[in-house]
Amino acid sequence: MYLIKDDLARELNDIEEAGLLKRERQLTSAQSAHVTTTETEALNFCANNYLGLADHPEVLTAARDALDQWGFGMASVRFICGTQSQHRDLEKQIAEFVGQEDAILYSSCFDANGGLFEVLFGAEDAIISDALNHASLIDGIRLSKARRFRYANADLADLRAQLEAARGARRTVIVTDGVFSMDGFYAPLDEICTLAEEFGALVMVDDSHAVGFVGDGGRGTPELMKVMDRVDIISGTLGKALGGASGGYIAARREVVDLLRQRSRPYLFSNAVAPSVVAGSRKALELAASSTEQREALGRNTTLFRELMDDAGFELLPGSHPITPVMFRGDDGARQASQIADAMLDRGVYVIAFSYPVVPKGQARIRVQLSAAHSEEDVRTCVAAFIAARDDVLAPGN
Ligand SMILES: *Cc1c(COP(=O)(O)O)cnc(C)c1O
Repeated sequence: MYLIKDDLARELNDIEEAGLLKRERQLTSAQSAHVTTTETEALNFCANNYLGLADHPEVLTAARDALDQWGFGMASVRFICGTQSQHRDLEKQIAEFVGQEDAILYSSCFDANGGLFEVLFGAEDAIISDALNHASLIDGIRLSKARRFRYANADLADLRAQLEAARGARRTVIVTDGVFSMDGFYAPLDEICTLAEEFGALVMVDDSHAVGFVGDGGRGTPELMKVMDRVDIISGTLGKALGGASGGYIAARREVVDLLRQRSRPYLFSNAVAPSVVAGSRKALELAASSTEQREALGRNTTLFRELMDDAGFELLPGSHPITPVMFRGDDGARQASQIADAMLDRGVYVIAFSYPVVPKGQARIRVQLSAAHSEEDVRTCVAAFIAARDDVLAPGN
């Protein structure tokens, strides 16, 4: 044990010396646009709370009522005695929202992706995956025995080359995030679907950073790209825009969902989603589906932030997604981004800097995430903090 202990301490030390140690700030409040931490009060610009539903009164009421009606826990997997009628209701609600025949609920989207590929794709099959796909897709694909191919991020020429290389497989599937989380870029789903049709491949999209708020009806990237009827399998999370509690899903044709219920290991061998989370998520989804109020506020905030930051001379990656990367390039960029993020927290605005190896060398950034819960004043405060922090860090002594 002592040897292992020393080895691990050394490894931790290496992580720290490389500047990669992740320290968790502890919130002492609910997740919201305004939070308190053990050290400070802050405006939060780094949550995935896109629609501001994490502490929405109607979501809270639904979850609270569910404790009385449905209890605290299920103490069972779904197929033994862990399925309440509301679990099925939520699955049907998700399927209808994203335009698929049915859906199956998991404890998380990580589990949904982890339990998908092994069931549907075996040694005779091919899985073609975008190089920037989420870790859970990468792990899920690893668990299957299919041949694996990787194409450069959103690179259609490379995707075509990989489709050629995979010719002869029984089943072929192209796998992509709907939105790439470090850039806020959308996958080119229209062209991906066209290539898939040419090669007789399936298309699978993980729409975690889009479901609830991307597209006119909030139905996600396939809606935005007008390919809802051309995508075969969709995964997504309830842990971001849709209330942000926990849970994930796969939505697809009935036979896909039915087979996952029989064979998918994280579904079969892990506890059912908690009743209050199911009820709160149903309400969050209902709000996302029925009202445009939050989506419009989110769009206004994103546009305003981009305009003000442009005017202030910051470099933003182009786009319209509420993930808005503020770039700090060059050799000194990583240090600048991290010091500016620290200086902003001192000024009461909570944002996070990302640098190599999370993003490519020389492309350090502060990833700002807008929310419908932010007021116009919150957005202006954030931009003012950026400007002041930049002065602090880049021109000290002014
Ligand atoms: C956040 C995210 C996940 C993980 O979702 P959880 O429900 O938190 O496990 C999976 N895929 C993508 C693309 C994500 O952004």
